[in-house]
Amino acid sequence: MHRTPIDQLLIGAHTSIAGGVHHALIEGKSIGATTIQLFTSNQRQWKSKTISEEEALLFREIQEETKIQKVMSHSSYLINLGSSNPENLLKSREAFREEIIRSSALGLSFINFHPGASVGDTKEACLDRIVKSLLMMEEYVEDGQVRLLLESTAGQGSSIGYQFEELAYILERTQAKLPMGICLDTCHLFCAGYDIRTPQDWKRTLEEFDKIIGIQHLYAFHVNDSEKECGSRKDRHASLGEGKIGLESFKFLMSYSVTREIPKYLETPGGCPMWDKEIWMLREFGKNYTR
Ligand SMILES: [Zn+2]
Ligand SMILES: [Zn+2]
Repeated sequence: MHRTPIDQLLIGAHTSIAGGVHHALIEGKSIGATTIQLFTSNQRQWKSKTISEEEALLFREIQEETKIQKVMSHSSYLINLGSSNPENLLKSREAFREEIIRSSALGLSFINFHPGASVGDTKEACLDRIVKSLLMMEEYVEDGQVRLLLESTAGQGSSIGYQFEELAYILERTQAKLPMGICLDTCHLFCAGYDIRTPQDWKRTLEEFDKIIGIQHLYAFHVNDSEKECGSRKDRHASLGEGKIGLESFKFLMSYSVTREIPKYLETPGGCPMWDKEIWMLREFGKNYTR
């Protein structure tokens, strides 16, 4: 079986676009990243500007130079594709469409997004609105270049997507029409109640994922430790080894044949100096190989 050398394992972080989108690639390269996640615009504003031809060209050029692969966009936190407020839903769909257009212009591999929140409505109605919102995007993803990844959430407040069943519900109803997939966030997974502290815990959680969603739909990991306990449904990221999940979990994630080659993006506190160390550490963990 082909085993990727550790220097080629896809490990990176959410880098900054201050100074232009291409800057995220340069920052990624400077911390030893082989992949990155970025925002394609200011994530706190509804209005966003389009990507110019020059920007797109420059981005592709720098991407080739830095050899950074599988670039992932994290969509705006304002977007709620399951919103029960008609005005908010309209704005969310519009903003998500724009996100797809910008990401496609840059030639990105993935758009990671939070499924939505039910705020004052039932979970079922929210899930159906998310499905409907996604199906409206069909013509924008027709070339199949950019894949839409549902991010597993911590289940904070009324947010949807912390149980595998919810993610499966959305996936089952959209995957025939759209390039879909899942991004598992280790902190969210843990806070949602899926224990991943030991190899046994990880195997049990991944088996459950496979049974309910299907492991072939897993395209990415957000790698974060957690300040809060398992099942707390509180989303607070911690540096690797400094939270309640602990290093044993990340060692296994990097060495297990099922998860080793899947792209990984850090969203831990501390910025570049910390990510530099964490990327190096994760690569070292990748020296081991567990079947
Ligand atoms: Zn995340
Ligand atoms: Zn989070």
